[in-house]
Amino acid sequence: MIFAGCDIGSLAGKAVIIKDDKIVATHIIRVRSNPIRSAEDVMSAALKKSGLDYDNITRCCATGYGRENIPFSNMNISEISCHGMGAYWLDNSIRTVLDIGAEDSKIILIDEKGKVVDFAMNDKCAAGTGRCLDKLSEAINLRVEDIGRVSLKSRNPVDMTNVCSIYMEIEVIRHLYERKKIKDIAYGIHDAVASRIAYLTKSVKIEREITMTGGVSKNQGMIRSLEKVMNVKFRQLSVDPQLAGAVGAAVFAMKEESNCNG
Ligand code: ADP
Repeated sequence: MIFAGCDIGSLAGKAVIIKDDKIVATHIIRVRSNPIRSAEDVMSAALKKSGLDYDNITRCCATGYGRENIPFSNMNISEISCHGMGAYWLDNSIRTVLDIGAEDSKIILIDEKGKVVDFAMNDKCAAGTGRCLDKLSEAINLRVEDIGRVSLKSRNPVDMTNVCSIYMEIEVIRHLYERKKIKDIAYGIHDAVASRIAYLTKSVKIEREITMTGGVSKNQGMIRSLEKVMNVKFRQLSVDPQLAGAVGAAVFAMKEESNCNG
Protein backbone atom coordinates (compact mmCIF):
# COMPACT_ATOMS: atom_id res chain seq x y z
CA MET A 1 0.00 0.00 0.00
CA ILE A 2 1.10 3.55 -0.70
CA PHE A 3 0.64 6.47 1.65
CA ALA A 4 1.30 10.13 0.99
CA GLY A 5 1.88 13.11 3.26
CA CYS A 6 1.69 16.70 2.08
CA ASP A 7 2.81 19.62 4.27
CA ILE A 8 1.92 23.05 2.91
CA GLY A 9 3.71 25.63 5.04
CA SER A 10 3.88 29.38 4.68
CA LEU A 11 7.12 29.25 2.69
CA ALA A 12 7.73 25.65 1.61
CA GLY A 13 5.61 22.76 0.37
CA LYS A 14 6.80 19.26 1.28
CA ALA A 15 5.63 15.84 0.04
CA VAL A 16 6.54 12.32 1.16
CA ILE A 17 5.52 8.96 -0.32
CA ILE A 18 5.71 5.83 1.83
CA LYS A 19 5.50 2.37 0.27
CA ASP A 20 5.74 -0.83 2.33
CA ASP A 21 6.81 1.15 5.42
CA LYS A 22 9.68 2.87 3.60
CA ILE A 23 10.03 6.41 2.26
CA VAL A 24 10.35 6.00 -1.51
CA ALA A 25 10.21 9.66 -2.62
CA THR A 26 10.24 13.17 -1.20
CA HIS A 27 10.09 16.65 -2.65
CA ILE A 28 10.31 20.24 -1.38
CA ILE A 29 9.25 23.39 -3.26
CA ARG A 30 8.84 27.06 -2.46
CA VAL A 31 5.11 27.71 -2.11
CA ARG A 32 3.12 28.90 -5.14
CA SER A 33 0.47 31.60 -5.28
CA ASN A 34 -2.11 29.39 -3.52
CA PRO A 35 -2.01 26.27 -1.29
CA ILE A 36 -3.82 24.00 -3.78
CA ARG A 37 -1.28 24.72 -6.53
CA SER A 38 1.56 24.23 -4.06
CA ALA A 39 0.13 20.87 -3.00
CA GLU A 40 -0.41 19.70 -6.58
CA ASP A 41 3.06 20.77 -7.73
CA VAL A 42 4.94 19.25 -4.80
CA MET A 43 2.98 15.97 -4.79
CA SER A 44 3.23 15.58 -8.58
CA ALA A 45 7.01 16.00 -8.35
CA ALA A 46 7.29 13.41 -5.54
CA LEU A 47 5.07 10.96 -7.45
CA LYS A 48 7.16 11.43 -10.58
CA LYS A 49 10.32 10.60 -8.61
CA SER A 50 8.68 7.42 -7.27
CA GLY A 51 7.33 6.31 -10.67
CA LEU A 52 3.80 6.33 -9.21
CA ASP A 53 0.59 8.18 -10.00
CA TYR A 54 -2.22 9.78 -7.93
CA ASP A 55 -4.34 6.66 -8.56
CA ASN A 56 -1.74 4.53 -6.79
CA ILE A 57 -2.09 6.41 -3.47
CA THR A 58 -4.05 4.34 -0.94
CA ARG A 59 -4.57 7.30 1.38
CA CYS A 60 -3.16 10.83 1.65
CA CYS A 61 -3.08 13.19 4.62
CA ALA A 62 -2.36 16.93 4.43
CA THR A 63 -0.89 19.17 7.10
CA GLY A 64 0.50 22.70 7.47
CA TYR A 65 -1.25 26.04 7.33
CA GLY A 66 -2.58 25.29 3.80
CA ARG A 67 -3.83 21.79 4.64
CA GLU A 68 -7.54 22.31 3.98
CA ASN A 69 -9.33 21.70 0.66
CA ILE A 70 -6.42 19.91 -1.02
CA PRO A 71 -8.24 17.94 -3.73
CA PHE A 72 -6.22 14.71 -3.61
CA SER A 73 -5.97 14.42 0.21
CA ASN A 74 -8.41 12.28 2.22
CA MET A 75 -7.82 13.87 5.61
CA ASN A 76 -5.90 16.62 7.34
CA ILE A 77 -4.13 16.83 10.70
CA SER A 78 -2.43 19.71 12.55
CA GLU A 79 1.27 20.28 11.97
CA ILE A 80 1.92 19.90 15.72
CA SER A 81 0.64 16.30 15.65
CA CYS A 82 2.38 15.59 12.34
CA HIS A 83 5.80 16.89 13.40
CA GLY A 84 5.49 14.85 16.62
CA MET A 85 4.46 11.68 14.77
CA GLY A 86 6.95 12.17 11.94
CA ALA A 87 9.93 12.57 14.29
CA TYR A 88 8.75 9.59 16.37
CA TRP A 89 8.30 7.34 13.31
CA LEU A 90 11.84 8.17 12.20
CA ASP A 91 13.30 7.64 15.69
CA ASN A 92 11.06 6.15 18.38
CA SER A 93 13.35 7.28 21.21
CA ILE A 94 12.30 10.92 20.58
CA ARG A 95 10.13 12.55 23.28
CA THR A 96 10.62 16.25 22.45
CA VAL A 97 10.53 17.94 19.06
CA LEU A 98 11.63 21.51 18.43
CA ASP A 99 10.03 22.53 15.14
CA ILE A 100 11.17 25.85 13.67
CA GLY A 101 9.54 26.84 10.40
CA ALA A 102 9.28 30.07 8.47
CA GLU A 103 6.71 31.78 10.70
CA ASP A 104 6.62 30.04 14.04
CA SER A 105 8.51 27.82 16.43
CA LYS A 106 7.08 25.05 18.61
CA ILE A 107 8.23 22.68 21.30
CA ILE A 108 6.21 19.47 21.14
CA LEU A 109 6.27 16.76 23.82
CA ILE A 110 5.26 13.26 22.68
CA ASP A 111 4.62 9.99 24.48
CA GLU A 112 5.95 6.48 23.78
CA LYS A 113 3.49 6.16 20.87
CA GLY A 114 4.30 9.49 19.21
CA LYS A 115 1.11 11.17 20.48
CA VAL A 116 1.33 14.83 21.51
CA VAL A 117 1.08 15.31 25.29
CA ASP A 118 1.97 18.99 25.53
CA PHE A 119 3.32 21.82 23.41
CA ALA A 120 4.32 25.47 23.47
CA MET A 121 4.26 27.72 20.46
CA ASN A 122 5.61 31.11 19.46
CA ASP A 123 3.64 32.60 16.59
CA LYS A 124 3.62 36.16 17.92
CA CYS A 125 7.27 37.19 17.88
CA ALA A 126 9.05 37.18 14.49
CA ALA A 127 12.49 36.97 16.13
CA GLY A 128 12.29 33.21 16.73
CA THR A 129 11.45 32.19 13.17
CA GLY A 130 12.97 31.13 9.86
CA ARG A 131 11.82 34.35 8.22
CA CYS A 132 13.85 36.37 10.71
CA LEU A 133 16.95 34.33 9.77
CA ASP A 134 16.10 34.80 6.08
CA LYS A 135 15.96 38.60 6.56
CA LEU A 136 19.11 38.82 8.66
CA SER A 137 21.05 36.60 6.19
CA GLU A 138 19.99 38.95 3.43
CA ALA A 139 21.22 41.93 5.47
CA ILE A 140 24.73 40.43 5.58
CA ASN A 141 24.54 39.34 1.94
CA LEU A 142 24.45 35.60 2.59
CA ARG A 143 21.95 32.95 1.52
CA VAL A 144 20.12 31.43 4.50
CA GLU A 145 21.49 28.06 3.31
CA ASP A 146 25.03 29.41 3.95
CA ILE A 147 24.73 31.56 7.08
CA GLY A 148 25.05 28.61 9.48
CA ARG A 149 28.21 27.23 7.88
CA VAL A 150 29.79 30.72 7.80
CA SER A 151 28.96 31.32 11.48
CA LEU A 152 30.74 28.11 12.50
CA LYS A 153 34.06 29.77 11.52
CA SER A 154 33.61 32.65 13.96
CA ARG A 155 36.07 33.00 16.86
CA ASN A 156 34.88 36.40 18.09
CA PRO A 157 31.07 36.57 17.84
CA VAL A 158 29.36 39.94 18.11
CA ASP A 159 27.02 40.45 21.00
CA MET A 160 23.47 41.16 19.82
CA THR A 161 21.51 42.97 22.50
CA ASN A 162 18.15 43.30 20.72
CA VAL A 163 15.49 40.61 20.79
CA CYS A 164 13.05 42.17 18.33
CA SER A 165 13.57 41.22 14.67
CA ILE A 166 13.33 44.84 13.45
CA TYR A 167 15.90 46.07 15.96
CA MET A 168 18.08 43.04 15.27
CA GLU A 169 18.27 44.13 11.63
CA ILE A 170 19.25 47.66 12.65
CA GLU A 171 21.89 46.22 15.00
CA VAL A 172 23.28 44.02 12.20
CA ILE A 173 23.63 47.10 9.97
CA ARG A 174 25.49 48.89 12.78
CA HIS A 175 27.90 45.93 13.07
CA LEU A 176 28.46 46.11 9.30
CA TYR A 177 29.26 49.87 9.55
CA GLU A 178 31.72 49.02 12.32
CA ARG A 179 33.37 46.58 9.89
CA LYS A 180 32.79 43.54 12.08
CA LYS A 181 33.50 40.26 10.29
CA ILE A 182 30.52 38.61 8.55
CA LYS A 183 31.19 35.28 10.29
CA ASP A 184 31.15 37.03 13.71
CA ILE A 185 27.88 38.83 12.92
CA ALA A 186 26.41 35.53 11.67
CA TYR A 187 27.29 33.82 14.95
CA GLY A 188 25.76 36.72 16.94
CA ILE A 189 22.56 36.45 14.87
CA HIS A 190 22.21 32.73 15.67
CA ASP A 191 22.75 33.28 19.38
CA ALA A 192 20.15 36.07 19.43
CA VAL A 193 17.52 34.04 17.54
CA ALA A 194 18.26 30.95 19.65
CA SER A 195 17.78 32.85 22.90
CA ARG A 196 14.36 33.95 21.63
CA ILE A 197 13.38 30.37 20.84
CA ALA A 198 14.67 29.13 24.19
CA TYR A 199 11.84 31.12 25.85
CA LEU A 200 9.55 28.29 24.78
CA THR A 201 11.24 26.00 27.28
CA LYS A 202 9.87 28.15 30.12
CA SER A 203 6.38 26.72 29.63
CA VAL A 204 7.15 23.04 28.88
CA LYS A 205 9.68 20.71 30.42
CA ILE A 206 11.99 19.18 27.83
CA GLU A 207 12.19 15.39 27.90
CA ARG A 208 15.12 13.43 26.45
CA GLU A 209 15.53 12.48 23.63
CA ILE A 210 15.09 15.71 21.69
CA THR A 211 15.32 16.45 17.97
CA MET A 212 14.82 19.44 15.70
CA THR A 213 12.46 19.57 12.70
CA GLY A 214 11.41 22.26 10.22
CA GLY A 215 13.57 24.08 7.70
CA VAL A 216 15.66 25.89 10.32
CA SER A 217 16.97 22.54 11.58
CA LYS A 218 19.13 22.46 8.42
CA ASN A 219 21.08 25.44 9.77
CA GLN A 220 24.18 24.12 11.59
CA GLY A 221 24.75 27.51 13.24
CA MET A 222 21.26 27.42 14.79
CA ILE A 223 21.84 23.88 16.01
CA ARG A 224 25.05 24.97 17.75
CA SER A 225 23.47 28.07 19.36
CA LEU A 226 20.30 26.22 20.44
CA GLU A 227 22.28 23.35 21.95
CA LYS A 228 24.25 25.94 23.94
CA VAL A 229 21.34 28.04 25.24
CA MET A 230 18.99 25.09 25.84
CA ASN A 231 21.74 22.82 27.20
CA VAL A 232 20.65 19.87 25.05
CA LYS A 233 22.08 17.66 22.32
CA PHE A 234 19.74 17.17 19.36
CA ARG A 235 19.41 13.74 17.79
CA GLN A 236 19.75 13.84 14.02
CA LEU A 237 16.95 12.29 11.98
CA SER A 238 17.66 9.90 9.11
CA VAL A 239 15.83 12.07 6.55
CA ASP A 240 15.84 15.79 5.81
CA PRO A 241 14.20 17.19 9.00
CA GLN A 242 12.25 19.78 6.98
CA LEU A 243 10.17 16.79 5.81
CA ALA A 244 9.17 15.60 9.30
CA GLY A 245 5.65 17.11 9.13
CA ALA A 246 4.96 15.46 5.75
CA VAL A 247 6.35 12.16 7.07
CA GLY A 248 4.00 12.41 10.06
CA ALA A 249 1.06 13.14 7.75
CA ALA A 250 1.83 10.01 5.68
CA VAL A 251 2.06 7.98 8.92
CA PHE A 252 -1.37 9.27 10.00
CA ALA A 253 -2.74 8.22 6.59
CA MET A 254 -1.28 4.75 7.19
CA LYS A 255 -2.81 4.55 10.68
CA GLU A 256 -6.21 5.65 9.39
CA GLU A 257 -6.14 2.92 6.75
CA SER A 258 -5.38 0.24 9.33
CA ASN A 259 -8.16 1.63 11.61
CA CYS A 260 -10.64 1.44 8.72
CA ASN A 261 -9.62 -2.15 8.00
CA GLY A 262 -10.28 -3.08 11.61
P1 ADP B 1 7.10 26.42 6.63
O1 ADP B 1 6.56 25.02 6.89
O2 ADP B 1 6.54 27.46 7.55
O3 ADP B 1 7.02 26.80 5.19
P2 ADP B 1 9.75 25.27 6.88
O4 ADP B 1 9.72 24.33 8.05
O5 ADP B 1 9.69 24.65 5.53
O6 ADP B 1 8.63 26.38 7.04
O7 ADP B 1 11.06 26.16 7.04
C1 ADP B 1 11.34 27.27 6.22
C2 ADP B 1 12.54 27.99 6.80
O8 ADP B 1 13.63 27.08 6.87
C3 ADP B 1 13.04 29.13 5.95
O9 ADP B 1 12.45 30.34 6.39
C4 ADP B 1 14.56 29.13 6.17
O10 ADP B 1 14.91 30.02 7.21
C5 ADP B 1 14.86 27.72 6.65
N1 ADP B 1 15.62 26.91 5.69
C6 ADP B 1 15.11 26.20 4.66
N2 ADP B 1 16.09 25.52 4.01
C7 ADP B 1 17.24 25.81 4.67
C8 ADP B 1 18.61 25.41 4.49
N3 ADP B 1 19.00 24.58 3.50
N4 ADP B 1 19.52 25.89 5.37
C9 ADP B 1 19.15 26.72 6.36
N5 ADP B 1 17.89 27.13 6.58
C10 ADP B 1 16.95 26.68 5.75
